[in-house]
Amino acid sequence: MTRILVVEDEVRLGSFLEKGLRSSGFTTTVVGDGLTAGALARDEDFDLMILDLGLPGKDGLDVLRDLRANGQRLPVIVLTARGDPHDRVAGLESGADDYLPKPFHFEELIARIRLRLRDGGTRAAEQPQLQVGDVALDLRTRWATVGDERLELSAREFELLRAFLEHPNQVLSREQLLAHVWGYDYDPGSNIVDVYVGYLRRKLGGERFETVRGVGYRFRA
Ligand code: CA
Repeated sequence: MTRILVVEDEVRLGSFLEKGLRSSGFTTTVVGDGLTAGALARDEDFDLMILDLGLPGKDGLDVLRDLRANGQRLPVIVLTARGDPHDRVAGLESGADDYLPKPFHFEELIARIRLRLRDGGTRAAEQPQLQVGDVALDLRTRWATVGDERLELSAREFELLRAFLEHPNQVLSREQLLAHVWGYDYDPGSNIVDVYVGYLRRKLGGERFETVRGVGYRFRA
């Protein structure tokens, strides 16, 4: 039995995680504040913690620091809406084993949980890479490269490019991309997908992103 402690104050996301993790075979406890989370992690025997950073009572980073200060090796995957790379660095420096920005794919969370459970949180994280032709994304460091050249991408640009690299040569509709990258908080009438594909075209070269009229876009591998 693998026990996972989910620390998330957004009720909707918390119950989504609970249901998903249960159906994936994990025993799951959800708490919505940092103080309870710290106490539970100390007093009970969990195998892994999924930790939101912005929490009432006690900030996620403080929960994490205290956990590590008490010598607890429990693997921790930090979940956060904060897109700032500074927060990612702070999270990893405070002792997180992995970091997943919201919105995320549930499948990816599961994959990361399995990875962390396998190595017990003791080994340095593997570096999952997504590569199509000369374009590569390092999903851990969130670096993007074309050949040897490093690209400066915003968090949204990174996620959009990732969606394309996960489905090379496949036509992706605007709605798919919108749901995939912007999550549940989007306006279906928005042209934000087109704007961001424009940004990627400028950074990676326009020929890679083919417009499929009336539908969406295709990344040419
Ligand atoms: Ca929160």
